[in-house]
Amino acid sequence: MQLLPNIYLLDGFAYAQHANFYLIHSEQGNVIVDAGTVSADLERAEQHLSRWGISLEQVDCLLLTHSHYDHVGNAAVLRERGATVIAGPGDAEGIVLADWRTAPYAAGFRVSACPVDRVVHDGDVIDACGFRFEVIHAPGHTDGSVIYQFRHAGQIIWFVGDVLMINNTHFEPELGWQGGEDFDKATYLQSLRRLAELPVDCILAGHYFPYLSQGQRLVGRAYVKALVEWR
Ligand SMILES: [Zn+2]
Repeated sequence: MQLLPNIYLLDGFAYAQHANFYLIHSEQGNVIVDAGTVSADLERAEQHLSRWGISLEQVDCLLLTHSHYDHVGNAAVLRERGATVIAGPGDAEGIVLADWRTAPYAAGFRVSACPVDRVVHDGDVIDACGFRFEVIHAPGHTDGSVIYQFRHAGQIIWFVGDVLMINNTHFEPELGWQGGEDFDKATYLQSLRRLAELPVDCILAGHYFPYLSQGQRLVGRAYVKALVEWR
């Protein structure tokens, strides 16, 4: 399913599945954001890719928003097929070790450990397949949660993982799961406060629906929601 110029939904809400993962495609190559939970997710994603004439072996780069099992479940397989794996500070170590940072206690199983080829920090730039992604470190949901900012076709697009999402018909923001061992409300609030100051048009979250305009308003409302509920 195409969402924006060069950006497709590989699996997730439009396929009645929980975990979104996204494809950014050009003639120069393919970048995937997040990697689903179980092998069936990747099988569906592979089917969808094949409709567009792309194989898993043609995935050059995997950007992981954070270490939770429902975002990194197929990272090891994608890396074996040739993708370079990128993740944020701390969470990257959790992905390498498949430790508590992948939240196995919530999953009921342990994901496969996956080497991380590059650990990115706030302000870093990733050049992949002719595209440029800027890293925004947004800790709170996990310590190493990162947003990948993509300026493309006149819009500022954020791949936010679980930092915020939209899960109802009133288009109200929802905050990320609070059960992670490194979940931290104060840190999360600080991140949302900072994010609410930044311009953004489109927000593509790890779960539920895309938000394709006025993203900054949504982030501001997420910050207010966190202030009301958590302070
Ligand atoms: Zn998460």
